[in-house]
Amino acid sequence: MRLLLIGPPGAGKGTQAEILSRILGVPHISTGDLFRDQVGRRTPLGREAARFLDAGELVPDRVTTDMVRHRLGEPDAERGFLLDGYPRTVPQAQALSSVLAAGGTTLDAVLELTAPEDVLVDRLLARGRPDDTEDLVRHRRRIHHRRTVPVLGHYAGLVRTVEAVGTVEDITARILTALGLPESVSTR
Ligand code: AMP
Repeated sequence: MRLLLIGPPGAGKGTQAEILSRILGVPHISTGDLFRDQVGRRTPLGREAARFLDAGELVPDRVTTDMVRHRLGEPDAERGFLLDGYPRTVPQAQALSSVLAAGGTTLDAVLELTAPEDVLVDRLLARGRPDDTEDLVRHRRRIHHRRTVPVLGHYAGLVRTVEAVGTVEDITARILTALGLPESVSTR
C-alpha cells in the first residue's frame, strides 16, 4: 500500500504512521525524521536543513524531493510506503507524481488528519520538541495552511479525512475504516 499522511503540526501523524506501518507492513518514511537524523549526524544535508528546521521554515523543495526520491528507491519501499510529512507543497506533490510514474506506481490513498486547535496545541506542548515553542508552532501552522492545505486539491479523489481526536487506538480504528480495511488487521 502506498499512502500519504497529511495534517497540521500536532495532528498525530508520526504516532499513527508508526502504528499503521506495523499493521500494513510498509516502511514509515517521515521527512522530518530524515532531516533530524541528518542534522544529528552533521552531514552536509543536515547542516543545510538545520537552519530551516530551527526557524520552522520548509526546507527547499528540490533538496527535500531529492532526499525522498533516494529513500523511495531503497528496497524496503518497493512494495509500499507510508509517507509522513511529504509532500508539503504543490511542487513537491507534482515531483512525487513524477517519481512514482517513473517507477510505474501510483498512490492508494491520502489520509488527512484533522483536529481542533486546542487539541493540536495541547499535543505539541506535551511533546516539547525544540521547534515546538509557541512562536514556531504558530509559524508552522501558518505554513501548513498556506502551503500544505492546497496539496489536498492535487489529490482530490484520493483524500480520506479522519478526525484525529480521542485515544490513539480510536484514531487508528477510524483510519483503518476510512481506508476500507477491516479493524481486525490491527490485532495481527
Ligand atoms: P515534521 O517532523 O514533519 O513536523 O517536520 C519538521 C521540520 O522538518 C519542518 O518544520 C520542516 O522544517 C522540515 N520538513 C519536514 N518535511 C518537509 C517537507 N516535506 N518539505 C520541507 N520541509 C520539511
